[in-house]
Amino acid sequence: MGEIKTPDKLKPESVAEAAIPSLYADRQRVYPKAVFGKIRSVKWAVLILCLALYYLVPWLRWDRGPGMPDQAVLVDMTNARLFFFWIEIWPQEIYFLTGALILGAFALFAVSSLFGRLWCGFTCPQTVWTDLFMFVERWIEGDRNARMKLDAGPRNGIYWARKIAKHGAWALIAAATGGAWIMYFNDAPTITRQFFTGEAGVMVYFFFALFAGFTYLLAGWAREQVCTYMCPWPRFQAAMLDENSLVVTYHDWRGEPRGKAKAEGVGDCVDCAACLHVCPTGVDIRDGQQLECIGCGLCIDACDSVMGKLGRPKGLVAFETLKNLSASAAAAAALPPGPERQQAGMAARRVPRFIRPRTIMYASALAVVALVMLGAFLMRSTLDVTVLRDRAPLFVRLSDGGIRNAYTVKIVNKTRDEAPLTLTLEAPAGLRLTVQDVEAIGEGRYALSRRGDGITQYRVFITAPAGARLGESTPVTFRLLDSAGRPATSQSSVFLGPKP
Ligand code: SF4
Ligand code: SF4
Repeated sequence: MGEIKTPDKLKPESVAEAAIPSLYADRQRVYPKAVFGKIRSVKWAVLILCLALYYLVPWLRWDRGPGMPDQAVLVDMTNARLFFFWIEIWPQEIYFLTGALILGAFALFAVSSLFGRLWCGFTCPQTVWTDLFMFVERWIEGDRNARMKLDAGPRNGIYWARKIAKHGAWALIAAATGGAWIMYFNDAPTITRQFFTGEAGVMVYFFFALFAGFTYLLAGWAREQVCTYMCPWPRFQAAMLDENSLVVTYHDWRGEPRGKAKAEGVGDCVDCAACLHVCPTGVDIRDGQQLECIGCGLCIDACDSVMGKLGRPKGLVAFETLKNLSASAAAAAALPPGPERQQAGMAARRVPRFIRPRTIMYASALAVVALVMLGAFLMRSTLDVTVLRDRAPLFVRLSDGGIRNAYTVKIVNKTRDEAPLTLTLEAPAGLRLTVQDVEAIGEGRYALSRRGDGITQYRVFITAPAGARLGESTPVTFRLLDSAGRPATSQSSVFLGPKP
């Protein structure tokens, strides 16, 4: 019997393939138009402030005395220290950084619940650098229409000259950004000189290239794709918003139905698409709340400018709560487009409720974390002692029958004070303290020198005489006294011996 042939289009795989729609969509290039207005001015001010802070902070000096770095903000990898003006964080105090991150997270939650995506639209580094790159692009290639024409036109000398100039300028900004990054980990003037003379280490060049490369890629090429596809924040920030949060909204109750400016019976939106053309993520705000909208508010400026030219009230696109939007829509529903409808809709608006359970919860959490951190910081000790008892062997039996335990004592001195400290032992009578290579200055007392801003380590022994009546484990306390004989710090441990 011959094999039955099945037409290709009836094969199961083909059926399955035909049923699955493509999940890939080509990128629609966005050509944001320049816009002027109050929000754009605020965004410029925030952008300049953020960039100035980032590029200039490594150059700020802070005198910490001889032998110490004089850079105000420095992550000193060699000496494992974080310097922030007068604050010096040691590796043991990394919990301060954790606390700062938690503080930042709660602050972000609180701001989002009050004002929507204020962080994304104004201060996120992706937004700030993309805005800067777009400014350069507009300066070299022209505004929206000129850029669209250039990309759609012939690949001639003008095209290549503009593209090379733009990418050259982007590369310079990216290099400055990568350069500033490495200055946070090295003394800025020194690393700048070493960088250009080729004396800097391989890792310095590596991190410079890494940071510069990502700046160029993310702010120049990926742009809105980072916010739409890569960043997790838009996915879960919706959980922080509610109907009382201020978000960028289109007042559809006032704008619809759209129509020409002189048409009868239409709303205020003249369908000019100015709001869409200025949007850096290519969003039409008239379609409602969208994940791609970063809340930058530029569409507000664009629409306000159109309304101003038409002599209509501004605020067709505005920062508004969804609650007010619904109230205005309900109040205006029965009225035809016109001033009466506008007045009814505006009258239904209420002052946003800033104090509500969600914001109280975030503010309380913020206050608790801030207070805990402040308390921990104020009570932070500048002198610590750690005692590590030898574990192998647990104890040593001496030739005269005595028992000896060995310990490593570390003095952690976070100040520049190098005055010696006196080590004493609080323990049952009979236990004797000795310190390797250090002469006693009295009965069971040893003067230990300490390194300024460093750790000093000693080998210390406690010995019990033969026949001492001690348990298997005896508590002991190592105490450090300052030069005036006052207790400076102490650490408890145990003295171990054989079973009685
Ligand atoms: S829709 Fe408006 S607020 Fe949202 S990203 Fe676009 S311009 Fe910014
Ligand atoms: S800018 Fe204002 S008037 Fe123009 S399309 Fe957008 S919402 Fe309508």
